[in-house]
Amino acid sequence: MVAFMAIKVGIVGYGTIGKRVADIVKNSKGMEIAGVTSRSYSCRLDIAKDRGFSVFVPEDAATEFDNRGFKVGGTFEDLCETADIVVDATPNKIPPKNMPFYDNHNLKVIVQGGESHELTGFSFSSLANYEEALNRNKCRVVSCNTTGLSRVISTLDSAYGVDNVFASLIRRAADPRESSKGPINAVKPVMGVSHHGPDVRTVMPHIDIYSMAVAVPHTLSHVHTLRVKLKKETSREDVVALFDKTPRIVIGKGKEGFGDTCQVAEYYRDFRLRYDMPELFIWDEPLDVVGKYVYIMANVHQESIVVPENIDCIKAMCGLETDKMKAIYETDKVVGIAKARHCYI
Ligand code: NAD
Repeated sequence: MVAFMAIKVGIVGYGTIGKRVADIVKNSKGMEIAGVTSRSYSCRLDIAKDRGFSVFVPEDAATEFDNRGFKVGGTFEDLCETADIVVDATPNKIPPKNMPFYDNHNLKVIVQGGESHELTGFSFSSLANYEEALNRNKCRVVSCNTTGLSRVISTLDSAYGVDNVFASLIRRAADPRESSKGPINAVKPVMGVSHHGPDVRTVMPHIDIYSMAVAVPHTLSHVHTLRVKLKKETSREDVVALFDKTPRIVIGKGKEGFGDTCQVAEYYRDFRLRYDMPELFIWDEPLDVVGKYVYIMANVHQESIVVPENIDCIKAMCGLETDKMKAIYETDKVVGIAKARHCYI
């Protein structure tokens, strides 16, 4: 009998996205962490070590780590030799520089939404195009905003067909830990169409979508307001039932304690590690359907919404699961997204 070898996943960039993906990889069947990278010491690496992750560093940083008595796993090059796939979650524009190393080591690579679609030639969002990622070598998991939009639009498109979408995005100006970007006292518009609509078309090219966006002095989440025109009429009841049985979408009522982004965040603070909220949260009261038009207001937790999609993407690229809904179901069990099994299979 051939023993099954777990897929070894390297996490390059142990920041907001990288550390979250690492935690879920660690607990997922069929994969394990080969190591995480860092350019210099930070207290966060002690936590990585406590979680059992080897830390790989550039050759010229090894002495700094040695002097602290922090035992590293090796160099970035060593990690590339050990891993089967890397999730590159370094800041924008670093992954293109890393790509030649990955190519030299014949590594499969996932990059994040801050990179251009052209870097990998394929953009991924689980509900929209899981099957197209099967056995690919390079994928880009779309950004937090595009993931939120794609979940809703692909769900409505599968059920009714989508004629067109207008999306207005109220974006958080910075992540909670990014004190260097504040204090901020402005609402900053994108002057013209925002990149989010075109980005949705990287995973669903047939969708007619126009998007506008402003950034506001807020760190907890983005808020989306959408008007989706369907190809046929439906009812609010039908749309609520559809979202109820869709993975990674939840509906909550303002009057039941989800009155604003702070209250949503507070609920998830109590509910889950790091108050992560990888579900797309749709507010119940503003959800409306008028003929063919669906009106939606949703909350997107930027730091965690792409995490399950990264895990699904690993499964698809490494051929761990060919069935989209089974992949999503297994990922969501590990992430802790509580929805009934019939939502997935
Ligand atoms: P981050 O700044 O929180 O983390 C990046 C990490 O990479 C840091 O720990 C940094 O020290 C490390 N790093 C920097 N240069 C490096 C290098 N050359 N080699 C190895 N490590 C290096 O960034 P993030 O917010 O996690 O964003 C990463 C990617 O994910 C970006 O493409 C971003 O657009 C995308 N993304 C971010 C969010 C979000 O809200 N933060 C949401 C979705 C997608």
